[in-house]
Amino acid sequence: MTTRRLQAALLRWYGRAQRDLPWRRSPTPYRVWVSEIMLQQTTVAAVTPKYEAFLQRFPSLVSLASADEDEVLKHWAGLGYYSRARNLRRAALAIVADHRGVFPSEFDAVLQLPGIGRYTAGAILSIAFRKPFPLVDGNVIRVFSRLFGLRGRAKDPGFVKKIWPLAARLVPTKNPGDWNQALMELGATVCTPDSPSCGACPVAKHCVAFKKGLQDALPLPEARRKPVPVRWTCLWIEKNGDVLLWRRSDKERLLKNLWGLPEAGRIAASPGLRIAAASHAITHHALTVELREATLHPGVITPPEAKWVPRAKVRDFLVSSLWLKLLRK
Ligand code: SF4
Repeated sequence: MTTRRLQAALLRWYGRAQRDLPWRRSPTPYRVWVSEIMLQQTTVAAVTPKYEAFLQRFPSLVSLASADEDEVLKHWAGLGYYSRARNLRRAALAIVADHRGVFPSEFDAVLQLPGIGRYTAGAILSIAFRKPFPLVDGNVIRVFSRLFGLRGRAKDPGFVKKIWPLAARLVPTKNPGDWNQALMELGATVCTPDSPSCGACPVAKHCVAFKKGLQDALPLPEARRKPVPVRWTCLWIEKNGDVLLWRRSDKERLLKNLWGLPEAGRIAASPGLRIAAASHAITHHALTVELREATLHPGVITPPEAKWVPRAKVRDFLVSSLWLKLLRK
């Protein structure tokens, strides 16, 4: 009975308080999928304009599958974690090849697609197909930790494992997508990491942490991880209006498989004046990059990773925000 009251209270609140977000309008499997992939590790504010532009360029799964990888990466520029964009395209190709271009509606088939894990499969199946599959993300972990008074760290895999069965038990057969979105919406707008707004919370009377005054203590704080410092010197090599770019391999620690400016030492060139510098954070790395003008040594043959690109086209290739910061300078 309490579960039903909890569900009803949260769903009622979601019905009136949900934010108007573009992916919530006409939630087709394709639109939900693209939004969920974009929203992994990226804020709603950063995703919203990119999502609209991406959908304009790739309005359907087939249009995404027909595009080449560089084109997809270009429209992903600024969102980071570029393997997500590659997997999105690979999954679109797999759906065209194995499911005649129609997004599968079975859990196992969805889970087999590149870049789709249990969370994303649950989101697509519950929101777009209205199937009662649970999902667990950072917001849901925080809300459940407080609501049920569960002690644990939100990023501890053992703690996350305990949340899944709870989420599965609570997801209703009617409106499972709204329920899952309501939980995430509550975590994003009311039950926030710092200073949750318990006074405005629709489920406060069901909440263990609120009753015990533990809302600021749960979930338990994460152990802080120190960022790893990384320094690069990169080269701006220009000849007859073309600039030398470098495709980073999939063995790189950072920005793998993306076009960038060549790092000093990778090609025989003499570095000259420093023309720009920038700092950039990428997944626990604090990257400091300086950019120097450089000239190639006479007779150097450019390797296959390198490519001369007209100066005006350079921005189309350098999609990471790191390069955009440097180019702006
Ligand atoms: S009462 Fe406070 S701590 Fe509990 S779910 Fe609501 S916002 Fe979170």
